[in-house]
Amino acid sequence: MSEVIFRGGTILTVDSEFSIVRGDLACRDGLIVQVGGDYTPQTSDYSIIDAEGTIVMPGLVQSHIHMCQSLARGRADSMELLDWLHKVVWPYEGALTREDLRASANLSCLELISGGTTSILDMGTVHHSDALFEAARDSGLRATIGKAMMDEKDPAIPPGLMESTKDSLDESARLCRDWHGRSGGRLRYAYAPRFALSCTDELLVESCKQARAQGARLHTHTSENQSEIAEVKRRKGMDNLSFLHKVGLTGDDVCLAHCVWVNEAEQKILRDTGTHVLHCPSSNMKLASGYAKIPELLAAGISVSIGADGAPCNNNLDGFMEMRLAALLHKPRVGPKAMPASQVLKLATRGGAAALGLESEIGSLEVGKRADVIAVDVSGSHCVPLHNPYSTIVYAARSSDVKHVVVDGKVLLRNREILTMDREGSLRDAQKHADALFARL
Ligand SMILES: [Zn+2]
Repeated sequence: MSEVIFRGGTILTVDSEFSIVRGDLACRDGLIVQVGGDYTPQTSDYSIIDAEGTIVMPGLVQSHIHMCQSLARGRADSMELLDWLHKVVWPYEGALTREDLRASANLSCLELISGGTTSILDMGTVHHSDALFEAARDSGLRATIGKAMMDEKDPAIPPGLMESTKDSLDESARLCRDWHGRSGGRLRYAYAPRFALSCTDELLVESCKQARAQGARLHTHTSENQSEIAEVKRRKGMDNLSFLHKVGLTGDDVCLAHCVWVNEAEQKILRDTGTHVLHCPSSNMKLASGYAKIPELLAAGISVSIGADGAPCNNNLDGFMEMRLAALLHKPRVGPKAMPASQVLKLATRGGAAALGLESEIGSLEVGKRADVIAVDVSGSHCVPLHNPYSTIVYAARSSDVKHVVVDGKVLLRNREILTMDREGSLRDAQKHADALFARL
């Protein structure tokens, strides 16, 4: 048995009552065993984390990330989606070696963990996907990952990303077999057909069949940009989400990034099928895609969570930044009461857990759940005084205030120092691989 105890601090449980309690939070063998009050260690194998002056809360669950893209941070500014894909992101992904991908994933894990993100849903690139799993495995991050599937014969797709329908399905099945449920369940697989325009109907239908047979999630992009929607309509004769519904890509095991341009009939599909919407506020603004109607989707009872998307369209993987933007973005249109801080924090924790199908395991601090816990230092001048901890976390705190991070009961970050990775080496490697890759391109 091993125990980790957060001693002191204000505990934001984000449970169904939004309880806030004072005292200790104790974890034993990866599970939360006590929330609040005084805790006495039950064994000699324990570690005490001083959490005085911090807010102890569930780790952030970012439901839409591309760890594979981090080496292209700052290389794709001032572009709309299709140009952004065709001119920078696809050529970049097509040129990634396995070692480049590992460097990108290490950099991403470092940024995510240091910024208080404990779980992600990640879409990889077409090849070398084991490197993403290895980075998550070694860093301690909880990750559901899928290789990007793209079998459409599109001249915009570089040779390095071309694959046949069979190869795409076979490689997904192989990765699912090798990684789904590994590291004590911390690593999971998700089938990730990239989006309607890069996949044949056969690939989409078969992906749904295979994923469901394996108990894996389905993860794709939809209705992000108006040119994309117009092109889907031209090729498939239907609106984007209606088309995905036709081929089976809706349901409570399906995670759809963006959903910026969703009409009323499609909103009804999302609600009736329990499909999860992954909201990416920075990415939607930076690519000039538009504003997802999140307050309306929530009012309709649709599941929403939050993700940073990728470094070339954000340009960070910062869950705190995304919470702040998700809270601010909709107010000018809907009014100041839209997206209150407590609701935004729920989307960033329990919302992400629901998208991953892990709501009984993570997303809130409750006895019996997995110990994915962070402590945020709120003693800085930008956070004092502390009145309403939800307001402090969503509007005032920054990812750089994250002081301690525990995933599955293991301490990954302590006093802002990453324990599971070589921080300097990862940063050096990322720059080296990025320089070499863009020199090749
Ligand atoms: Zn994306």
